[in-house]
This record gives sequence, C-alpha cells and structure tokens, in this order.
Amino acid sequence: IVQFQHVYKSFGDHEALKNIDITFQEGETTVILGPSGSGKSTLLRCINLLEQPERGQLTIAGTTIQLDKPIVKKDKLAIRQSTAMVFQSFNLFPHMKVLENVIEGPVTVLKQSRAQAVEKGKTLLHKVGLEHKMDSYPSQLSGGQQQRVAIARALAMEPQFLLFDEPTSALDPELEGEVLRVLQDLAEEDKSMIIVTHNLNFARRVADRILFLENGEILFDGTTDAFFEHNNNERIQAFIQAMQ
Ligand code: ATP
Ligand code: MG
Repeated sequence: IVQFQHVYKSFGDHEALKNIDITFQEGETTVILGPSGSGKSTLLRCINLLEQPERGQLTIAGTTIQLDKPIVKKDKLAIRQSTAMVFQSFNLFPHMKVLENVIEGPVTVLKQSRAQAVEKGKTLLHKVGLEHKMDSYPSQLSGGQQQRVAIARALAMEPQFLLFDEPTSALDPELEGEVLRVLQDLAEEDKSMIIVTHNLNFARRVADRILFLENGEILFDGTTDAFFEHNNNERIQAFIQAMQ
C-alpha cells in the first residue's frame, strides 16, 4: 500500500498539501482530479519523494517514514524503487536507443543481467506495441510512441505502484488514444496505478476510484460511479460541467 497520514507540504508560505490522509490499495487504479494548482502533482511527487513533505507519516511498500525527521538513505531507496513515475514530457534518454532506455534501470539499479533485462525489455516493448522500434532513438519516434516507451521503461523497474502525471497532456488527440489504451490494458491487469489527468472520459473508463483535490485538500475520495453519478457536491458538479 501507499499511505499518507496527516501529511503537509508547503512551498514557502503556500501550503500545497494540507493534512492529507489517504490510502492507495494495490491492484487499484486511482485517478486524481482537480483544478490547476490544487496539489495533484505535489501529491504524486511526494509518493516517490521527488518532493519531501515536512510533516506527517508516509508508508510505502512496507517502509514507514516520519516526515519531520531526516529520511534514512536506505528507506529513501526502498521507496524510490517501489514506485515508478511517468511524466508529461516522456523524459527518455535522448542518446540511448529505445531498448537501451528500457533496460538501463534494470541493469544498473536492479542488477539484472543484460541478457535477462533485454529479454524482459523486448517483452515490455511488445506489450506497448513498439518491439519494432527497439533500435530507434527517441527523436525518431512520435510523442505517443515515446510515451509508450516511457511506460515500458517504468514497468521494467517492476514497481509496486506506477505513477502518471498527465501522461497525455503533451500529445495531440490522435496520439493520446494509443497511450490511453496502454494504460487501460494495465488497469485491466490490476496493476496498481495512480494517474493525474484532466481527461474525464478516460477517468470514467479506467478508474476504480477518484480523488478530487482542491486547495491542497481532498474534497472527494470514493468510487468512480459515486463521483460521476451520485455527487451532490456543487463544487465538483461545476468542475465536471466545465470540463465537458
Ligand atoms: P496543474 O493541474 O496545473 O498541474 P497541480 O494540481 O498539479 O496543478 P501542483 O503542481 O501540485 O498543482 O501545485 C500546487 C501548488 O503548489 C500550486 O499553488 C503551485 O504553484 C505550488 N507549487 C508547486 N510546486 C512548487 C515549487 N516547486 N515551488 C513553489 N511552489 C510550488
Ligand atoms: Mg500538475
């Protein structure tokens, strides 16, 4: 699991996350929604400690840390390795071919043999429909293809939780679909995923659970059906209206 207990994160005097209490279960796809600046990226980035919250307690894959104390290096590594983040901007290594991008982490961090990592890497590229591009460089791929490589690279690290921060917002609509299909496949395999998106149709299709943030607070935490169909919160109704 990933669990936040009384977590606070500030930037200067701006409180980006206020007293967050939430548990993400394995096997679930959670979609995080909310207006711009509500703290969605910050929440996601706290999960793999790209941002360090200053108060509260975080439990990730069996490791619990008290956030008001310095984090022990061993715990930080354990948390980093149990999660993998896919960014809006793909972030592939430009000087490495596609397959090299996918096997880099498994070989250097997980200490897999090269042969083992290559075999696994090819399987993952097949899964995202890009085995035929394994010897290309990222610059030779479309944005949608690059993002699918980034997903294969994240999967190669065998994380407990996959984190996605607006994975399709840099893509044209026709390329968005191919990435969303890969995410939908992963959701159907019951991978543990936490996805920030502005795409409500996608959220409705893929999410087991919706989290709605506003001003650094959780305004809604419940099933997808409850969020879209049985919601009496005026603020959330207005948000759904405005996005359609
Ligand atoms: P968007 O939908 O625009 O991506 P978001 O919900 O992801 O928004 P966050 O990026 O988490 O929002 O930001 C939450 C708040 O924290 C915002 O007010 C933002 O300006 C502030 N913030 C985020 N990162 C930093 C930073 N590194 N330094 C200062 N302020 C920050
Ligand atoms: Mg964001």
